[in-house]
Amino acid sequence: MSKRAFNFCAGPAALPIAVLERAQAEFLDWQGKGLSVMEMSHRSDEYVAIAAKAEQDLRDLLGIPSNYKVLFLQGGASQQFAEIPLNLLPEGGVADYVDTGIWSRKSMEEARRFGTVNVAASAKVYDYFALPGQNEWRLSKDAAYLHYASNETIGGLQFDWVPETGEVPLVVDMSSDILSRPIDVSRFGLIYAGAQKNIGPSGLVVVIVREDLLGRARSLCPTMLDYKVAADNGSMYNTPATFSWYLSGLVFEWLKEQGGVEAMAQRNRAKKDLLYGFIDGSEFYTNPIAIEARSWMNVPFRLADEKLDKHFLAGAEERGLLNLKGHRSVGGMRASIYNAVGLDAVEALVTYMAEFEKEHG
Ligand code: PMP
Repeated sequence: MSKRAFNFCAGPAALPIAVLERAQAEFLDWQGKGLSVMEMSHRSDEYVAIAAKAEQDLRDLLGIPSNYKVLFLQGGASQQFAEIPLNLLPEGGVADYVDTGIWSRKSMEEARRFGTVNVAASAKVYDYFALPGQNEWRLSKDAAYLHYASNETIGGLQFDWVPETGEVPLVVDMSSDILSRPIDVSRFGLIYAGAQKNIGPSGLVVVIVREDLLGRARSLCPTMLDYKVAADNGSMYNTPATFSWYLSGLVFEWLKEQGGVEAMAQRNRAKKDLLYGFIDGSEFYTNPIAIEARSWMNVPFRLADEKLDKHFLAGAEERGLLNLKGHRSVGGMRASIYNAVGLDAVEALVTYMAEFEKEHG
């Protein structure tokens, strides 16, 4: 086996080595069929079974109730920014959006093309370092839905609570924290997640939608973006992203072998405790996010002197600690520590950070 680096990329992100090895072993000849999954008809018995198993495993992992459809779609999470209002926001309707950072703002900008957006709350009042508590939110009386992002991948801001919206369907962008800890799916009308962080390869987006929200698409909604069409056709109205779906299925199997989402939550807690604990104990590194809103998945941090950033990154790369540069919009550093990034990776990072501080602090 070649030497693998520790990859802290925000996405496309690290995948479990066991999954990559399995895909490699099955690549040329899937289970003695003499062809790769990539070369199979999506209508073949073999592929239909692969797709169904992936869906069932995801249902098991998240405890998805039977009145929810699971869709494996294309276009990434960003396409959902339009697909959600096209399906759920009626002509002349209003949708509530919560602004907690770049991704939730992108989703609301897109929704504005299709109707009225009410910004129910914004973390701007806290410079995006804390979340507005629900008592500060101003919900519309008859919103078609409320949208929020449970984890802002760039800012490193995560909800550790689920908003209360009564009868109004809750729509959540879980791209960067799905499967990282248990959730109660029944609290949501629709959950969506781009695959390239905790699920699988990029391009794929998983949508978990309550059945009563299907069949509401506007007349101008393209067929390909209509959730009901996707649901009625088992996400195979057209050719799905077959290989990405298969690989995601391998990740779900791996997650089950690891003990499921509860076990992941324990590991993820240990990882984030180690990293934030180290940052807080240091006078050289800082993370500005309010403690209760700190992301378990994306940990932005700054060095005491940004002139040292380049140096820090070069040294990290030399040690096989990759992709620690913060998003171009915020600068500094960011360590993304998704499910496939082990405690060993975080230990190696903290060791390096301590050494660097000793030398330059
Ligand atoms: N939402 C969140 C929270 C994200 O982190 C990202 C990607 N980083 C997106 C949406 C957009 O995903 P995609 O690139 O799959 O469109």
